[in-house]
Amino acid sequence: MKKQFAVIGLGRFGSSITKALSREGFEVLAIDVNEEKVNQFASIATHAVVADATEENTLKSLGIRNFDHVVVAIGDNIQSSILTTLMLVEQGVNHITVKAQNDYHEKVLLKIGAHKVVHPERDMGIRIAHNIVSKNVLDYLELSDEYSIVELVAGMKVDGRSLIDLDLRAIYECNVMAIKRGEEVNVSPAPKDILYDGDIIIVIGADEDITRMEEELF
Ligand code: ADP
Repeated sequence: MKKQFAVIGLGRFGSSITKALSREGFEVLAIDVNEEKVNQFASIATHAVVADATEENTLKSLGIRNFDHVVVAIGDNIQSSILTTLMLVEQGVNHITVKAQNDYHEKVLLKIGAHKVVHPERDMGIRIAHNIVSKNVLDYLELSDEYSIVELVAGMKVDGRSLIDLDLRAIYECNVMAIKRGEEVNVSPAPKDILYDGDIIIVIGADEDITRMEEELF
């Protein structure tokens, strides 16, 4: 059976999640106190209901605990976000993802039992900053405070050189996970594989090593 999702709060973040999940073919229950917003989702989500998620009985009557995953996307109203999350935890929802407004909000959400807390504005800000700082970084995924996966565009400095010749693992302790050339993706690059100007390489490594490699080779 397909996973069932519920999204509480249809601001920019909640709307975008609801649309993406619906597009993927999942069943989505969209909830908001604002009737106008709910009406906009009548034809997008599987069900769209006007409800105040801070009311315990409302959540119960919606059968919220039967959903596989509930996303709390209540933005500015931190109190409502916390109260809603607490009730979802108390009702035993298996996966609860909550959008946090700031670090204090995140701390409280994790303390009361949210399974995952996201900071879309902060995370996107970091990704875009990386993108702006280096013209060769297409995308960036932070694995921890120290390690990341980055997508880099190969330039003339590496054009025509093989991975064994570049020896990125020994010099920078970075591993090339994949090489994209047009539509083709090589997901298990071999030492003899050659990079060409315009290739996109996906590299995993420590942030400082990646930066050093980027400065010297890309
Ligand atoms: P974003 O920053 O993602 O745009 P917003 O703060 O603009 O977030 O939107 C949050 C949404 O959550 C609004 O549509 C608001 O009506 C809804 N909302 C706020 N409180 C509740 C609640 N108690 N129950 C259901 N929806 C709520």
